[in-house]
Amino acid sequence: MKLMLLGCPGAGKGTQAQYIIDAFNIPQISTGEMLRNAIQNKTALGEKVKLIMDKGELVPDDIIIDLVKARISEPDCLNGFILDGFPRTLKQANALEQQGINLDLVIEIAVPDQVIIERMSGRLIHPASGRVFHKVYNPPKEANTDDITGEPLIQRSDDNEETVRQRLSIYHEQTEPLVTFYQHKSTSDINSIFKKIDGTQTVAEIQKQIHDLILYIKKEKIA
Ligand code: AMP
Repeated sequence: MKLMLLGCPGAGKGTQAQYIIDAFNIPQISTGEMLRNAIQNKTALGEKVKLIMDKGELVPDDIIIDLVKARISEPDCLNGFILDGFPRTLKQANALEQQGINLDLVIEIAVPDQVIIERMSGRLIHPASGRVFHKVYNPPKEANTDDITGEPLIQRSDDNEETVRQRLSIYHEQTEPLVTFYQHKSTSDINSIFKKIDGTQTVAEIQKQIHDLILYIKKEKIA
């Protein structure tokens, strides 16, 4: 099962990806998380991308494409994966196809900008695992503490309002064209399904819809 979560920053892709990993045991490929790890580990890649990410801009396509190519060829991705935050441009989407990778399911989690701006100010993450919480909508059991490890949660440096607005405008300009790209694909290719989900619903409601979609695809692919 190769699936992709598409949506603007803060739409809930990371939260839903976490659910899919746990429920279906499908590995997640989050380019944002890979880049944040590179920054944290002070690698050459991390040095190169830190400023770009802090400004809320996109990392150059070639860097991202190489990163994903390498990750996809690892053994745990043999039976499928969830793409979270990739592809983010048409060039990246085309590169994926050129690799012979066709997605079974693309889910757009759609949320209006104003809701995103309100949401992002309360977002908290556990850096080591990428687990996402929210002060109001998805609070950890204990304030500012990861539920599983008990380690502290942090606010991402690119989750402040000014950077969020910049990331939203880049999303509309560079990533939103992928909605049309995958919509078209799903009308011309029966093996590729595109679904839009209302991302303003509760985390549990969205989870249920994603769960049902994955079960449907699994059944269709096996039949
Ligand atoms: P995310 O965690 O997906 O919100 O990504 C955080 C930041 O990482 C983005 O604002 C970009 O600077 C960078 N990034 C992540 N994925 C990509 C991608 N596919 N293409 C370009 N930049 C990316």
